[in-house]
Amino acid sequence: MKKPSQKKQSAIFYTIVPRDLAGHLFNVTLTVANPDPDGQTFALPAWIPGSYMIREFARNIVRIRAERAGAAVALTKLDKHTWRAAPGAGALTLHYEVYAWDLSVRAAHLDQTHGFFNGTSVFLRVVGQEATAHQVDIQRPADAAARTWRVATSMKEAGAKRYGFGTYGAANYDELIDHPVEMGNFELATFEAHGIPHDIVITGRVPNLDMARLQADLKAICETQIAFFEPLTKRAPLERYVFMTMAVGDGYGGLEHRASTALICARADLPTTANQKPGEPGEGYLQFLGLCSHEYFHTWNVKRIKPAVFAPYDLQVENYTPLLWLFEGFTSYYDDLMLVRAGIIGETTYFKLQAKTVCGVLRGSGRLKQSVAESSFDAWSKYYRQDENSPNAIISYYTKGSLIALAFDLTIRAKTGGAKSLDDVMLALWERYGRDFYPSVGRGVTEHEVEALFDEVSGLKLRNLFERYVRGVEDLPLAKLYAPFGVKLADERKTGKASLDAGIGRDPLGAKLTQVHEGGAAHLAGLSALDVVIAIDGLRVNGNPSNVDALLARYRVGDRVPVHAFRRDELMAFDVTLQGDRVPVITLSQAVAGRKPAALK
Ligand code: ZN
Repeated sequence: MKKPSQKKQSAIFYTIVPRDLAGHLFNVTLTVANPDPDGQTFALPAWIPGSYMIREFARNIVRIRAERAGAAVALTKLDKHTWRAAPGAGALTLHYEVYAWDLSVRAAHLDQTHGFFNGTSVFLRVVGQEATAHQVDIQRPADAAARTWRVATSMKEAGAKRYGFGTYGAANYDELIDHPVEMGNFELATFEAHGIPHDIVITGRVPNLDMARLQADLKAICETQIAFFEPLTKRAPLERYVFMTMAVGDGYGGLEHRASTALICARADLPTTANQKPGEPGEGYLQFLGLCSHEYFHTWNVKRIKPAVFAPYDLQVENYTPLLWLFEGFTSYYDDLMLVRAGIIGETTYFKLQAKTVCGVLRGSGRLKQSVAESSFDAWSKYYRQDENSPNAIISYYTKGSLIALAFDLTIRAKTGGAKSLDDVMLALWERYGRDFYPSVGRGVTEHEVEALFDEVSGLKLRNLFERYVRGVEDLPLAKLYAPFGVKLADERKTGKASLDAGIGRDPLGAKLTQVHEGGAAHLAGLSALDVVIAIDGLRVNGNPSNVDALLARYRVGDRVPVHAFRRDELMAFDVTLQGDRVPVITLSQAVAGRKPAALK
C-alpha cells in the first residue's frame, strides 16, 4: 500500500490554537509561501460585514512577531490594524495572539465552555493575495475539558472530518472570513431543506431542549424561502447551511453569513419538551424563529444581492450605502411574512407583529428628521451608536424599512390588480444581481438600479414613493394602503391618560428617565434624559418603572404637578404639565371577511 500523499498546503496557511481557555487567548500562525519580497503588508479588518460599525478588531491582538527560516523578521506597524514585514525572499510566518472575550456574534470568545470566532477577529489579511486559496488548521485545545469538543462551521473541510478539528479551506479571503467557527460540546441536529443539509448547533446549557420541534419549524422556514427565490428549481444557493446558536441567560442577536448564521438568544426562548403547548409558538420562541428567518433571508438579500459598495467590501474603513433600508428593512418585512407562509403563525399573530412595528416607528420624532436613506448612510455613527437622544434624532432602517416594503407591496398589488407584487421585485433582484454573485465576488446593485428595477418589474411609476418615504421623511399612509384589502389599521391610543412622555428605567433612588421625548411633558418642563425622578407631587417614586404610571393615574391631562429629580447629584424641582399619552397603539384587523391581503396567502 502506498503511503497517502500529504495534501498540499495552500500558499496562505493559518493555524489557530485555542491555547489559554482561562486567559481567553487564541494563538494564530500565518504562513505565506510567496510574500511580497519588497515587504509584505498584513491587515486585520476594522469591521465585520453585516454589523456596520468600526470595531477595530486589531486592538485584541496582544503580541505579534514574524520570522523567516527560523530568523526573526522586523514588523513595522503602519496604523492601528496594519503591519509590514521587512523585505526579504522566501516564506514568511507570523505568530500572534488574539484575546477573545466578546460574547457576541460579531467577534471571538473563548473559555472552558466553548470557543467561537469570526475570521475578521483572527485572520490577518495578506494584502495583495486576497484572491488566492486560504487554509486554516483548527486545533483542539490541550485542556482535558476539550477532549470531547467538536467543531461546527460552514467552511469546507480540507482534510478535517465533518465536525472535527483539522484543516478547512476557502477559495479566497472574502470567503475565509464569512464562515464563523464554533467549537465545544454543543447540541447538534441536522435536517434537509429541499435536499440541502442544514445543521442546528446549540451551545450553552438548555435543559429539555425540544430539538425535534426546532428542526421541524426551521425546515418549514428554510424550504419556504428556498422555494420563494427559486420557485422552479427549489435550488438553495449553497451546499450546506449552519445555524450556530449561543444560548445564554439573556441576549438577542444574529449575524448573517453566506452559508451560516451566528445567533445568540435567551435560553428561555428555545422550545422545551416539558410543558409543550400545541399550536403557534409562544412569544420568546416566536422571536427566535423570527431571528432565524431574518438571518436565513439574508442568504439571498445582502449576502448575494448586495449594495454596489459592498462588492467588494473595504474592511478597513466605513462603507457608505443609502440602501440598508432595502437589505435590512426588506429582510425584516419578509422574516415575519415567511413565518406566515411556512404555516408557523396565522394572520392574527402576524398583524400583531406588524402593529408593534408601526407603533415603534411612530413613537419617535426622529422619523420626521432622518430618512431611511440617510439612516442607512449614517448607520456607522448613528444607528449603531445610539444614545438617549436617538428617538428624537434618527429612524431605524429596519423598522421603517420593513414598512416601506409593506407599502410597496400593497401599492404594487393594488395597482396591478394582484398581477404583480414585491415578490416579483425581489426575484428580479435575485436573478440579476444575486444568483451569480459567487464564486468570485460579483457586482452589487446601485440605488439608481434599484429604483429603475421597481418600475420595470411592476410596470408602474413608483418614483413618488421613493421621494416621499425613502429619501423623504413622511409617514407611510398604511391605513389607506391597507383599505382596499379589507384590513383596518387604527390608532387606539388612550389620549386621556396622563403621562410624562419619557422612557423610564430602574434606578436605586427612583425612576431614571432613559429617554425624554421631544415636545413631551417632561421635555417642556425641563427634565432631561438620565434625570432620576424621586417624587411626584410630594410622593416617593420607587424603583419600579410602573410606579410612575401608578402615581400619575390619579391625575388628569393638563394637571400641573411638582416633580423632584436628581440630575447627577443635584436635587432639582420641576413643574410638569401632564400631557395625554402620545404612545401610538396600533391595531390591524380584518375588516372585510375573506379579503385577505394576497401577501399572506
Ligand atoms: Zn439583518
